[in-house]
Formats: sequence, structure tokens, C-alpha cells
Amino acid sequence: MESTTPSTPDAEAPLVRLRNVGKRFANGTLALQGMSLNIGAHDFISFLGPSGCGKSTALRLIAGLTRASSGEMAWTGGAAARTDRDLGFVFQEPTLMPWAKVFDNVWLPLKLAGMKRDAAAPVVQQVLEMVGLSRFADVYPRELSGGMKMRVSIARALVTHPRLLLMDEPFAALDEMTRIKLNNDLLAIWREHRFSVVFVTHSVYESVYLSNRIVVMAARPGRVIDEIRIDEPYPRGEAFRTSSRYNAHCTAVSQSLHGALHGVDIDH
Ligand code: ADP
Repeated sequence: MESTTPSTPDAEAPLVRLRNVGKRFANGTLALQGMSLNIGAHDFISFLGPSGCGKSTALRLIAGLTRASSGEMAWTGGAAARTDRDLGFVFQEPTLMPWAKVFDNVWLPLKLAGMKRDAAAPVVQQVLEMVGLSRFADVYPRELSGGMKMRVSIARALVTHPRLLLMDEPFAALDEMTRIKLNNDLLAIWREHRFSVVFVTHSVYESVYLSNRIVVMAARPGRVIDEIRIDEPYPRGEAFRTSSRYNAHCTAVSQSLHGALHGVDIDH
């Protein structure tokens, strides 16, 4: 397939804009301070940083699961332009209903939106196919491996064809080989379906492999200290993963993260 560099997201209207967004919890913790970010159409953005730097808080703010205490956040076209269907969320744990078969787990968001089982069936089948689980609609989550459960969770998040997929350390609990496979499959799905992704990770290697933009964050208070673009073409496969360019990007991102750990802002 033809190699494509991620489009120039800045040239298009961003999907979501954050302006100086902050979050202080009731106990006084300043979890996030002054975050500004444009999430472009078809961006793959990673939030990278040490524990407690506000990655999950930022993701939950974007998802509308928690409210900002300062600043502004807006979807392109205003609040009316965004519906629940525009957003998919994948947590670190697959959070599947153990008593329900794979099909029913994936159907859930459509069911909640009022879609009957029969009407939803083709969409559910299509999204199961997308994640490589078309033959597993009728099994229970307990019969699946950790990686397969995560695939179900991704299918459930994508079943409404969201414009934005938010992922909170989705592969952190998986073994290395499964993680690499899921990284590759996620990139393939993202490239084909052209939604935007915001992906929280602790891993420099994972963020460089996946993203076109990496937002480096620091803790106490949680804040953005750097943004690094990974201007490398997709698809990215083993050739990229073993290239000197990949290594050079990982080194640059590690240095920025090192600054984050020591509270130093990096000047590019
Ligand atoms: P990360 O995802 O980068 O590990 P979080 O966004 O979970 O960071 O947390 C950022 C900071 O906010 C941490 O100091 C954390 O302890 C604090 N925090 C997170 N959630 C809450 C909450 N509900 N109440 C109070 N403090 C919180």
C-alpha cells in the first residue's frame, strides 16, 4: 500500500481544542495546569509522562467524564457537533461484562443508543472483523486471552464509528509480543478508518512507534512540558521499529522525558 505521511493536521480544523485547561480536585490537588492542545482530525497523539502527571485526568476531561476547573475545551462546530457516538474510550482493563458474550459486549453502546440486536448485528460483525475476532462473537470473555479481551474492548469503543478514540494505557498489562501485535493492528485500523487517537502510555518506545505527535508531561503540578512530532511515514512496521531513525526519536523523547522527571522544561 502507498506510504502516507500523516496529513498536516494543523491545516485542517482541529477536532477538539483545549485552551489553558486546568483541573483541581476537591482535596486541593492540582492534577493539571494550563494545558493547551489542538487534537487534529486523524492525529495519533500520545500523552507520555511519569505517574501523577495528569495524563488520565486530561483524557477524562476530553471524554467529558470530569469537568475542567479552568480554561476552555471545545469540539469543532460547538457542543452540538459532538454526540456520545463521537467518542470511544478504552481503559487499561478491558472492563467487559463477564456474563455476556462477545457480541453483546460489543453491541452495548448501540443498545444504549436504542439500536435493536438484529439491526446492530452487521455493525457488530464488521467491527469484530476489524479487530480480528469475527469468529468469537459467541464466546464469553473468560474464554479469551488478555490480548483478545482488549480487542473486544477496542471493538466496543469503535462500534459507534467515533471521530475520537481515547485510550488509557490499553496495552500496559499485556506481554511484549501481544503488545506489538496490537500496536500494529491498531495502526492499521486507525489508518483505514481515519479517526483521531489520544493514547496514554508510560512507554517511550510505544509512543514513538504509534504517534505522529507526543505530548510530554511532568508532575506536581501535572502539565505539558514538550511536544515532539514524529514525522515518519505510515505504515510503520518492523523495518521502522529496528531503524536508526526510530532509535534517534526514542533517544530524543527519552531526553525530553528525563527533563520531565527532573522538572526541567526543554527548549527545542
Ligand atoms: P497519571 O494518569 O499521569 O498517572 P492522574 O491524572 O491519574 O495522573 O493524576 C494526576 C494527579 O491528580 C495525581 O497527583 C493524582 O494523585 C491526582 N488525582 C487523580 N484523581 C484524583 C481524584 N479523583 N481526587 C484527587 N486527586 C486525584
